[in-house]
Amino acid sequence: MAALCRASFFLSFFFWGVCYSPPPLCISRAGKYDYDLVVIGGGSGGLACSKEAAQFGQKVAVLDYVDPTVKGKIKIWGLGGTCVNVGCIPKKLIHQAALFGTALKDAKKYGWQISEPVCHDWATMMEGVQNHVRSLNWGHRVQLQDKKVKYLNFKGSLVDEHTVKGLTKAGKETILTAKNIVIVTGGRPKYPTNIPGAVEHGITSDDMFWLKKSPGKTLVVGASYVALECAGFLTGIGLDTTVMVRSIALRGFDQQMAGLVTDYMETYGTKFAWKCVPKRVDKLSSGALQVTWTDTQTGGEHQDTYDSVLWAVGRAPETKALGLDKLGVKLNQETGKIVLATDESTSVPNIYALGDIGEGRPELTPTAIKAGKLLARRLAGQSAELMNYDNVPTTVFTPLEYGCVGLSEEEAEKRHGKDNIEVYHAFYKPLEFTVAERDASQCYIKVVCKRFGDQTILGLHFTGPNAGEVMQGFAMGFQCGATYSHLSQTVGIHPTCAEEVVKVNITKHSGLDATVTGC
Ligand code: FAD
Ligand code: NDP
Repeated sequence: MAALCRASFFLSFFFWGVCYSPPPLCISRAGKYDYDLVVIGGGSGGLACSKEAAQFGQKVAVLDYVDPTVKGKIKIWGLGGTCVNVGCIPKKLIHQAALFGTALKDAKKYGWQISEPVCHDWATMMEGVQNHVRSLNWGHRVQLQDKKVKYLNFKGSLVDEHTVKGLTKAGKETILTAKNIVIVTGGRPKYPTNIPGAVEHGITSDDMFWLKKSPGKTLVVGASYVALECAGFLTGIGLDTTVMVRSIALRGFDQQMAGLVTDYMETYGTKFAWKCVPKRVDKLSSGALQVTWTDTQTGGEHQDTYDSVLWAVGRAPETKALGLDKLGVKLNQETGKIVLATDESTSVPNIYALGDIGEGRPELTPTAIKAGKLLARRLAGQSAELMNYDNVPTTVFTPLEYGCVGLSEEEAEKRHGKDNIEVYHAFYKPLEFTVAERDASQCYIKVVCKRFGDQTILGLHFTGPNAGEVMQGFAMGFQCGATYSHLSQTVGIHPTCAEEVVKVNITKHSGLDATVTGC
């Protein structure tokens, strides 16, 4: 029955897609152009921008095209961009799988009788994850249809400031004209260019989320969001995992918090090769990958073998195919990203860009979505509101999650002076860790405030379970200009980890023990 319903739903969608042609839109200003708006890139920002514009009666087309991964193993994925297919969504689901591993260990202490050995099956997990991703791909197509946005599976490039060329996989060209063009083509993982064997034998996060077989013993090169999250979930599902860090972990984040994240990962079982850089990757006759690396502190050379080498060394903007140079769209020469004004306009009139492709923009889904919606409203003449890129909260989904908003302690000191900031902090123990006898040494809260006056909060940092859920509400307080006294006037919800945030009362200046005792 369920299969029958699914089939009829798919069929009705197919026929609707073939037969339906949208009615003329009453407030479209397309005029001599085919569209009011052509959006290149159907990821987080592009979909949000195109749907919002259509909502205001604009005639909109969105082009989305995925090139196969460098290794060519993973051919393509569906509509939705990085977040849906090879980012936030599969990452968070696999993180959840890893958390279940810890929960299973805890469960025994809570009385659950679990017979050993408990094994994890990669293929089962991936089937579930990919089915969900495909349902999201489908949902996005349906939403575009519902909102009368024309979806075109074309690779887009610019011809002039009102013209886009679309190319199908088979090489068929279509020309589209538009009053405005928005570029939201995101980025793809980088490979290191100077390491023999890196491209031939390594994979990136784009491959990781579509692997049919477990990656096995894995070396993760890099030490930022992608590297630590991937290493965390691989360790969590029981794989032998090493992170190779060339400098520091989580550059740009509060370094005390970054230290807690990696300390926890070490106790969790992730190995770290600190201050090491890979030199070459060779495939042995056994099929194993032999990695040679240099310890930059001692100069010593080391080798080990792995089943997989994951390069998590950053992402490169997808601008190559767009023909931006011909039109004079200004790029940052170092990063290759598009230089943007506060209203997301590029150096060429009628061409806008947002999301990961924008120079200096956070590489996060919610900022791309919000910026896309706001741009659509401005282009449709509905609003003048600009995107506020300050106070963006974020969470690193490592085994011990880390959520934050605002300035790191280092950055607050730099901007305001060490003597002008007050740091309230607490080492707390999540209640759920107690019966499970889990070590809570890295569960920590830090509230960085101005030292004088009303003690405005400059930064809020939290490591612990469900850090994203905890931080979201506090981010709103932060956005409203919360002070330390607002925080301490707030009544906690007991017993939670989040209540520990409103209870912080020990300052770093005092030198007192910040360990929370009692409840
Ligand atoms: P994208 O989502 O990358 O969309 C761009 C789209 O344009 C893609 O579909 C691309 O194929 C297409 N395209 C490219 N060139 C062309 C062309 N010439 N013509 C047509 N189409 C083209 N963010 C979070 O907020 N939370 C997270 O937990 C999180 N986890 C992440 C985990 C990983 C492993 C990664 C890699 C990223 C993660 N991110 C996360 C970041 C988030 O995915 C991105 O910031 C977000 O997807 C950016 O959206 P975008 O619209 O700018 O680009
Ligand atoms: P980043 O650019 O943030 O980090 C790259 C990492 O790779 C750094 O640790 C860097 O070290 C290291 N590195 C670079 N080149 C080399 C090399 N040749 N050899 C060894 N190490 C190298 O990239 P990510 O891919 O981790 O993340 C990209 C963006 O995606 C993030 O900024 C984030 O906004 C987004 N994202 C968000 C997530 C979330 O919200 N939870 C999760 C994942 C991604 P060094 O510091 O020495 O330069």
